[in-house]
Amino acid sequence: MNDSRRYVVIGGGLAGLAAAVWLAEAGKQVTLLERRARLGGRTQAMQVPEIGDVPDNGQHVVASGYRSLFRYLESVGTRDCVEFPGGGTLRWPGGRAVRLHTSGPGAVRTLLGAHPDAGPLDRLRALRATVRLGRQALFQPADLADITTEQWFERVGMPAKAREALWDWLALGIAAEPVQRESAKVFADVLATGIRIGVRDRAGVTIGYPTVDLDTLYITGAERVFQKCGVDVRYRSVARKIVVTDGLVTGVQLVDGTEIAADAVVCAVPNSRIHGLLDDLPEHAEIYAAADKLGVTPIVSTNLYLDRPLGTKSAMEALIGGTGVIDEVFDRQRMHRRTPDGSWLYCLTTSGAYEQIHKSNDEIVTEQLALIRRYYPEAQAAKLVHAQVVKMPKATFSQAVGTSGLRPDQRTSVPNLMLAGDWTRTDWSATMESAAQSAERAVQALLAHTLHEDRDTMQRGL
Ligand SMILES: Cc1cc2nc3c(=O)[nH]c(=O)nc-3n(C[C@H](O)[C@H](O)[C@H](O)COP(=O)(O)OP(=O)(O)OC[C@H]3O[C@@H](n4cnc5c(N)ncnc54)[C@H](O)[C@@H]3O)c2cc1C
Repeated sequence: MNDSRRYVVIGGGLAGLAAAVWLAEAGKQVTLLERRARLGGRTQAMQVPEIGDVPDNGQHVVASGYRSLFRYLESVGTRDCVEFPGGGTLRWPGGRAVRLHTSGPGAVRTLLGAHPDAGPLDRLRALRATVRLGRQALFQPADLADITTEQWFERVGMPAKAREALWDWLALGIAAEPVQRESAKVFADVLATGIRIGVRDRAGVTIGYPTVDLDTLYITGAERVFQKCGVDVRYRSVARKIVVTDGLVTGVQLVDGTEIAADAVVCAVPNSRIHGLLDDLPEHAEIYAAADKLGVTPIVSTNLYLDRPLGTKSAMEALIGGTGVIDEVFDRQRMHRRTPDGSWLYCLTTSGAYEQIHKSNDEIVTEQLALIRRYYPEAQAAKLVHAQVVKMPKATFSQAVGTSGLRPDQRTSVPNLMLAGDWTRTDWSATMESAAQSAERAVQALLAHTLHEDRDTMQRGL
């Protein structure tokens, strides 16, 4: 059957890109609307003309269980641009460093307590607490949504050293919230996802990173698909409202007053931008209220170009006991297998950066330089060649206590209107995988709806 239906995707972040690519792959006519002059949303490369470099808007790491994201990378031809080094480094002030293994037998040792001062009793307690944590992640106590991750750690008896060296850091990385704020349920759900994937694949979930900048990883290949499949990408096109007539989507109104006809829509904007778009949807008030309650969490990234190497032991290093929340140092040139040309780039990421986000760029750079000098002896004499601060006040939706159960499904009560984006309901927290998985589910549901419509039409024609 010749499909003349027009599919409109709103939002050119990862979720919107994936939805547009997969709809185009399925032979559909797609229009992609993006409010800004560029694609990528919260994953993008940034120019630093002073150095001639293209760091990202914040280092993005990937987990080996990111199945939908890898499917997207296959589609856009960049699956080979992600590397899994099998671990990272934990670093304490003064330069003390411990290798953290995330795969193989070393991962078991890590789980039993990566802290260099952990004695046999600590490790035994860590083992018992880890088993309890895993069991409760799979068979969750009813009150998990009402307590913080820190309270959960206390309840299972996680020893302080195991928390310091692994669990607090991991929890913050997973949900971008300090354990004192993070919902234990959010962390438990991601742990359960990881355990299920590990059992299915017979391999633990490990952490990796892109070996190219985020534009090359996500956008360049997507643009090739769009060109090949005739996807109509419209930049600076801001959707105002999705028009629903007689229970079905018929178009999208833009802020410039024009309207684009649509036979199906995937709305892939973040929770902070959903207001107004769904006014015609019967359940819009409920979705807007959930979007507001999910709120935002800030991440601050500082790219420091130094005149000498820091002597990192691995590409990803976690600074234990940093600025109150755990900082991570990413050795960017090592990640990209580049030979430094006069300056060495270290990307420092602070998740849950509630205090830092209000500081000036100069204050942040001074603070971060002082921080690395405490942790890396080689940094004492290092000179700053250039610095760039990237503040993302709305880096992700919040996963603090009180937010679980709020995320809306991809399906709406209007069968040809799907929601997508990291904040919609998936197996993951606010991650790139959540964005990709939401797109996969939205596209599957739309294609199933289309098939259903086609069958109906054929039956009526018979
Ligand atoms: C600094 C930082 C570090 C991160 N680190 C990691 C990490 O290590 N690992 C990980 O998995 N995840 C990480 N994340 C999270 C990840 O980047 C996001 O979850 C993901 O990129 C969200 O994609 P999205 O498509 O849902 O939303 P977005 O990327 O926000 O895309 C939404 C798009 O919609 C557009 N838009 C909005 N309103 C309209 C409108 N009305 N009309 C048209 N277009 C509109 C926006 O301009 C945007 O392009 C990080 C995020 C940040 C900010």
